[in-house]
This record gives sequence, structure tokens and C-alpha cells, in this order.
Amino acid sequence: MSAATPFAPHAAPGIAAATVDLSKFYGSGDTRVVALDQVSVDFREGEFTAIMGPSGCGKSTLMHCAAGLDSPSSGSVRIGTTELSTLGDRQLTALRRDRIGFIFQAFNLLPTLTALENITLPPTIAGRRPDQQWLDRVITMVGLSQRLGHRPAQLSGGQQQRVAIARALASRPQIIFGDEPTGNLDSRAGADILGFLRDSVRELGRTVVMVTHDPVAACYADRVVFLSDGRLVDEMTHVTPDRVLGLMKSLGARAHTG
Ligand code: ADP
Ligand code: MG
Repeated sequence: MSAATPFAPHAAPGIAAATVDLSKFYGSGDTRVVALDQVSVDFREGEFTAIMGPSGCGKSTLMHCAAGLDSPSSGSVRIGTTELSTLGDRQLTALRRDRIGFIFQAFNLLPTLTALENITLPPTIAGRRPDQQWLDRVITMVGLSQRLGHRPAQLSGGQQQRVAIARALASRPQIIFGDEPTGNLDSRAGADILGFLRDSVRELGRTVVMVTHDPVAACYADRVVFLSDGRLVDEMTHVTPDRVLGLMKSLGARAHTG
């Protein structure tokens, strides 16, 4: 199988996803919460970005809005050059299915299906045959070739999350979003998953956006953006745990290192 990627990830620095002045409010009157306050951020093609900040600062909300899972109160979201607000429900569903992958903290696998059936479920539901060469490459990358017939209960947490990564990559999405994808794993299994997310960028040319509260996990990213009280407050490249911890402390966060 050829190792060539269809494009050089760093050659054309296009934008995989972007928000402009994105705000999100929940509730009204006395109970109104400003979850996001005019956040403008770009996620570039072929880049691995981590989103960090204190609990409740809006990380999940930003990711859900950027991924078209939740709608903005104001402002806009683009996936590639597509403005999400211009899409109807069916178009939005198709865009999420074809161009976006998700990985959640709880692996969200179907217990009665095998690893392979879980991985190929989204294209199967859409009535499509997955690209076999691509699928082989993804499965090899996450090291699941010998586990494809196992059901989730027969797999470790780390292996289940590898299935979830392969499932997120199966439809060749441009961009993969992960909300604390290593949050339920021990540090060794977590390191594997972070390595595979980085490989998705380096080897498969994808874009990855990951929410994490772990400064060590953040170091797998090319760039970290920091949120506080629903606002984008800082950004870091050349990520090290010490630099991340310093910034988190200055944001008043209690950084967990688990
Ligand atoms: P984080 O992921 O950084 O912990 P969230 O994005 O989950 O933060 O939440 C940001 C803020 O919005 C918090 O104050 C949270 O309580 C509030 N929030 C999130 N989802 C809802 C919701 N469905 N209804 C009301 N408030 C919400
Ligand atoms: Mg969250």
C-alpha cells in the first residue's frame, strides 16, 4: 500500500474550521449564562490544536459549535469554506457525516457490534462502502488489526478509544474533534491515543482539535488556545508542560495532571 497522502499537510495552510465572533448564551434573565463571548479562532489544515482553560470556561461549547453539533447564539462558524448557518438540517447532517469526525470521553461504541462493525457504522448507515485502502491504513495505524472481531466489552479502555478514533477517521473527514478523548484512560493508554491523534495529522494529513485539561496531553498539539470565562485569552506554540502550567495558573485554573 502506498504511504503517499493525497496532499502535503503543511503545503497549503488552508483553514479547516473557523469561528468569527461566536457567542453562545444559555437560559435567559437571571439564569442567563454566557458560555462563549465573541470567540474568533481558526483551525488550520494539517494542524493539531488543543483547547484548554478552567472547568466551565466554554471549551465543550466551543467544540460543539465549531463541529456543527450546537448552533451559535450569534457569530458564525465555517467548516472549510462552508458557512454552517447557510445549511439546512439535511445538509448539516451530511456535512457532519462526511467532513467531521468526533471522539468523546465516553467511547460511545455500540456494545453488540464488533470493533470493525463499530468503525464502519457511519458509512454503513449512510449506505456507502468505506474506502478499503484508507480503512486498512487507519486500522493499521491504531494497531487494531488483530482485534477487529472483538466486541467493546472484550477490549480495554484504550483499545475501545482506538476503535472510536478509527470510527472518527473512517469517512476520511477533514477535521477530527475530541472532547477530553483521554479523560477516561490511564496515562499509558492516554499517551497511545494522543500519539494516534498526532499521527492522524502527520501521516494522514487530517486536522485535529482536542479539548484537554492535561498539560502533558496538550504537548502533543502544535498549538494550544486558552479560554477563560467564554473568551479566547491566549495562544501558545512551542508547547511545554511548564509553559502550559504557568499559563493555567495565571488564568486561575487548577490544572490537573492526571
Ligand atoms: P467546559 O467544557 O469548559 O467545562 P462548557 O462549555 O461545558 O465548559 O460550559 C460553559 C458554560 O456553559 C458553563 O457555565 C456551563 O454550566 C454552561 N452550559 C453548558 N451547557 C449548558 C446547557 N445545555 N444549559 C445551560 N448551561 C450550559
Ligand atoms: Mg467540557
